[in-house]
Amino acid sequence: MKPTAPGLYVHVPFCTVRCSYCDFHVAGYRAAVAERYVDALLEELAALEGEGFRPRTIFIGGGTPSVLPPDAWGRLLRFLGRAFGGDDLEEWTVEANPGTIDREKAEIAREAGVDRISTGAQTFSAEGLQVLGREHGPEVVAGAHALLREAGFERLSLDLIIGWPGQTAAAVDEDLRRVREIDPGHVSLYHLSYEEGTALDRQRRAGRVEPLPDPEVITLARRALSGLREAGYARYEVSNLCRSGEESLHNLNYWLRGGYRGVGSGAANFAGGARWRNLADVGAYIRAGGRPERVDVEEIGAVGALEERLFLSLRLERGLDIAEFEERAGASLSAICGDAIDELVGDGLLVRGTDSLRATERGFEVLDAVILKLWDGCDWEEARIDGDTGPDDASPAGASPRLDR
Ligand code: SF4
Repeated sequence: MKPTAPGLYVHVPFCTVRCSYCDFHVAGYRAAVAERYVDALLEELAALEGEGFRPRTIFIGGGTPSVLPPDAWGRLLRFLGRAFGGDDLEEWTVEANPGTIDREKAEIAREAGVDRISTGAQTFSAEGLQVLGREHGPEVVAGAHALLREAGFERLSLDLIIGWPGQTAAAVDEDLRRVREIDPGHVSLYHLSYEEGTALDRQRRAGRVEPLPDPEVITLARRALSGLREAGYARYEVSNLCRSGEESLHNLNYWLRGGYRGVGSGAANFAGGARWRNLADVGAYIRAGGRPERVDVEEIGAVGALEERLFLSLRLERGLDIAEFEERAGASLSAICGDAIDELVGDGLLVRGTDSLRATERGFEVLDAVILKLWDGCDWEEARIDGDTGPDDASPAGASPRLDR
């Protein structure tokens, strides 16, 4: 499978309230700042357009893109539609918070060319929403999806979180019932994590919330997964399921190691064999007027490219295409990682077929440990790399990105 590259990610970092579990790059929403931020986004996007960049997918994420005031929302979406909405564009997703999307914004998005909306439901339990610090109530999500359908959106996605403190099997069943009712084409199923610095982690340390034990989280995740499968969704990535043909092309591009450009404060980029981020600072981003400072610049060498390809592929249900990997590596997978793979296959965490190497159900549950084992166990000296590190075509005509911007 080929990546749908290049992708374009646009970061809108504003939220009205920070959810208790959130460690993303987020700033408090103020309308005047959001307007100036969109001005800076348009300048950075214009520079990208001027370079000849033409994305095949666009994803506007955050933060909460739908919190933008209608004027800024319209300016951003119309610019993107005009600059990048040509025949090359295959998918255009916007993340929307169920509480901040309305008819006017939905219609502006539809007219600009957006064809897919992703909403963060997280759970339909009032208790769960309260623990997670979400602003919206359980009823708002269904209303938002109905409104989006009326506006003409056929491709809808919904996020769920598994493992919040106090979650029960009955709460998972209720989430599944609501998902079946709303019937989105795509569902993301994330495990809750207690990231350092988040309100939820502070509450855990203070003993005010009690995390579910890992085995209980796994039991709930299995229940959710099997309920979604019964409802006709198939897993295509460790945390993502969809009905046939409803995969997120933009995200698949990341996992297939396709190139992408990221615009906005803190946005990540991968082009011309290098990865970097825009400095994560909203004020500095606005002052930079479309030329944000690049940080964490890393040239990915040939070995790094193979490692990334192996580890990213294992996130996918289809796994690693062994023949393609071996062609790029100039050596057999067994010569590079044979012992580690044999051990993981023996432990029931990986399956090796003639064409592919992929995680088992159990392997997906402990994927980080699987990847760590491969990280330690692969001997890249065995690879005879010819310099072709694979898809990464975010730069026009394969040119190196201008790292001095
Ligand atoms: S809506 Fe998303 S980005 Fe905003 S605070 Fe909540 S989890 Fe973080």
